[in-house]
Amino acid sequence: MSQFDVVIVGAGIAGASLAATLAPFKKILLIEAEDQPGYHATGRSAAFWAESYGGPDVQPLTTASGQFLRNPPADFSKIGFLSERGALHIGTMNDRLAAESISNEFRNSGVRLDVLNSDTISKQIPMLRDQWSIGLWEPDCSDIDVAALHQAYLKFARVNGAEIMCRHALRDGKWSGGRWQIDIGGEILECHTLVNAAGAWADDVAVKCGVKPLSIRPFRRTIIQIEMIDPVSASMPLIIAIDGSFYFKPATGGRSIWLSPHDETPSDACDARPEEIDIAQAIDRFVQVTQARFGKIEAKWAGLRSFSADRLPVIGPATDNPAFFWFAGQGGFGIQTAPAAACGAASFLCDLVQRPSNVELSRYLPSRFA
Ligand SMILES: Cc1cc2nc3c(=O)[nH]c(=O)nc-3n(C[C@H](O)[C@H](O)[C@H](O)COP(=O)(O)OP(=O)(O)OC[C@H]3O[C@@H](n4cnc5c(N)ncnc54)[C@H](O)[C@@H]3O)c2cc1C
Repeated sequence: MSQFDVVIVGAGIAGASLAATLAPFKKILLIEAEDQPGYHATGRSAAFWAESYGGPDVQPLTTASGQFLRNPPADFSKIGFLSERGALHIGTMNDRLAAESISNEFRNSGVRLDVLNSDTISKQIPMLRDQWSIGLWEPDCSDIDVAALHQAYLKFARVNGAEIMCRHALRDGKWSGGRWQIDIGGEILECHTLVNAAGAWADDVAVKCGVKPLSIRPFRRTIIQIEMIDPVSASMPLIIAIDGSFYFKPATGGRSIWLSPHDETPSDACDARPEEIDIAQAIDRFVQVTQARFGKIEAKWAGLRSFSADRLPVIGPATDNPAFFWFAGQGGFGIQTAPAAACGAASFLCDLVQRPSNVELSRYLPSRFA
C-alpha cells in the first residue's frame, strides 16, 4: 500500500500551492478528481490581485503574497506573475458613506486608496456616465497570470518529489491506528495527515472522512467577455462598483472587456455554468455605468466561490480530528492570497516552513466555529 506523509485533496490553486510549499520537506500526494488541475474555481477567476478585495481581515494574506507574486524565488520562476493594472472603485453620490467606510477600514493597513474627485475620474475613464463621481484609486492592484502561477506550483511540487494524480477522487477516508486509509477509487492509500483543499466540495470531503463539516458554501459568480466597438485602453484600470454590483477590466489588448455583475448565487458544488439572468444583469449594469458601444458576447463562464460563515478562509487542523487539515473557504481571493496562505498552512504541518510575516494565522483557525 502506498504511504505518504500528507495527502492533499484538490489540485486547484490551494492544493497546488500547499503541495509545492511542503514538497521539499514531506512525502506528498496531490489528488484531483478532474482530468486537469484548475478545472473549477482556479481556472475561472478574474485574475486580479487587489489588497482591498475580501476586506481588512483577508488583506494581510493578500499583502503578504505580493512580494512572492511580483518577484518569486529564482528556483520557483524566472518571471513574476503580476502586471500593473490599478483599480478604480467607483460610486454615485449614494455611495459616499460606503466609500468613506472603505477608506477608514484600510487607513492604517498600508493599502493605498486615494480619494479622486469627479473631474479626475472622468478624465481617467471618459466612457463613465457623469453620475459616477465618487472614486477611490487603488494604484497597486495588479493582474495575476493565474495559469502560469498554478503551473509553476504544480511543477515545483513535482520537481521536489510530490506525486500528482488526476482523475482520482477521494471517495472515503478512515482514521484508525493513528493513520488515514484513503479510498481513491479502487486504490487504498495511507497517510498521516489529510488536507482538505477541495474548494466547493470541502464539506463533502469532510463528511466522507467522518469529520464535522463547517458549512462552507459555494456561490456562483459570472463573467462575460464582450467585444468593444469603441476599444478601451489596454491599460484601463479594473473598475469596481463601491456597492459591489459589478466590475470590469480590459481583455485582449482593449478590444474586449471582462465584465461581472458581481453575482453571488448560492449553488450546490457542481460544474458551474453562466445563467442568462446574470448575463443580462451584467449588460444592464454596464449600460447604466458607461456610454461605451459594444458588440457581441465573445465568451461567458461562471465559477464557484466558496465561503465560510464569516467569509474568512479556514486554515488549520479540524477540532474533532487534528490529522484532518482544513485549507478551504478561499472565497473570491484564493489566487491573490495563495503564497501566504500556503506558507501559513504549511507552517502548521512542518516546523521548517516559516510563517508569513504580519499575518495573524489564528483568526483563520477552524476552531473559531467550534
Ligand atoms: C468568476 C470568479 C472570479 C474570481 N476572481 C478572482 C480574482 O480575481 N482573484 C482571486 O484571488 N480570486 C478570484 N476568484 C476566487 C478564486 O478563483 C478561488 O478562491 C480559488 O480558485 C479557490 O481555489 P481552490 O483550490 O480552493 O478551489 P478549486 O480551484 O475549485 O479547486 C478545488 C479542486 O478540488 C477538486 N476536488 C473536489 N472534491 C474532490 C475529491 N473528492 N477528490 C479529489 N479532488 C476533489 C475539484 O475537482 C477542484 O479541482 C474568483 C473566482 C471566480 C469563480
